[in-house]
Amino acid sequence: MGFSFHDNVDLLRRILDDYTWDFAQIQLNYVDWNACNAEALYVLLEERQIPVVIMEPVRGGALASLNPEAAEILRQADPLAGPASWAIRFAASLPGVLTVLSGMSTMEQVEDNLKTMNPFRPLTEAERGVLARATTAYLASGAVPCTGCRYCMDCPSGVDIPRVFAIYNHYRTTNLRMVFDVTYNTLFDAEQAHNCIACGACIEHCPQGIPIPDLMAQIAEFAAQR
Ligand code: SF4
Ligand code: SF4
Repeated sequence: MGFSFHDNVDLLRRILDDYTWDFAQIQLNYVDWNACNAEALYVLLEERQIPVVIMEPVRGGALASLNPEAAEILRQADPLAGPASWAIRFAASLPGVLTVLSGMSTMEQVEDNLKTMNPFRPLTEAERGVLARATTAYLASGAVPCTGCRYCMDCPSGVDIPRVFAIYNHYRTTNLRMVFDVTYNTLFDAEQAHNCIACGACIEHCPQGIPIPDLMAQIAEFAAQR
């Protein structure tokens, strides 16, 4: 029997000390490896030889639609590989990984994932270096590390937190202000960031530790600059 885990390494250690587990599921991808301490969680499981199930290998889809700078780094390294395949390969190349879970919403994504896994090519050291450079370029975009899990919902003020972040992240990774304005206005007024009253109710539910009210204030200000 196993468990799905969203917390820090100290709590993971306590849980592992308490029981003999058959597997554990953690969020892991090449950005969160350092940015959200996924490496420490993985290393702890690997030390104890507990098979790892990986969720969010493509970070809620964000690593499939990278900002142009990060995408170009990957394209130059392998013009034929899509961004999602890099993310899947990073996760599936780690020793001790039992399963890599990947949400797919189109037949193209299913086919791309199947092609990535069969035949499977583990990442080389040089390719890990490519991903490290792509990570730096991705983080420089200023995108919010929201995976769209919706654990923070419902907001008592009606803000659609994950959709606000998704629309804002699209802008941060493409710089298309007009697209931001159009898609932001597909939200009802009550769902937009300016309705956040900074009550803080969402913060403790966010596994990514995102400072949601601060960012809502920033996004509301940004949206108002039209
Ligand atoms: S802090 Fe803002 S976004 Fe979060 S629950 Fe409160 S009103 Fe909603
Ligand atoms: S809980 Fe955090 S990561 Fe999940 S949708 Fe809300 S803000 Fe995004």
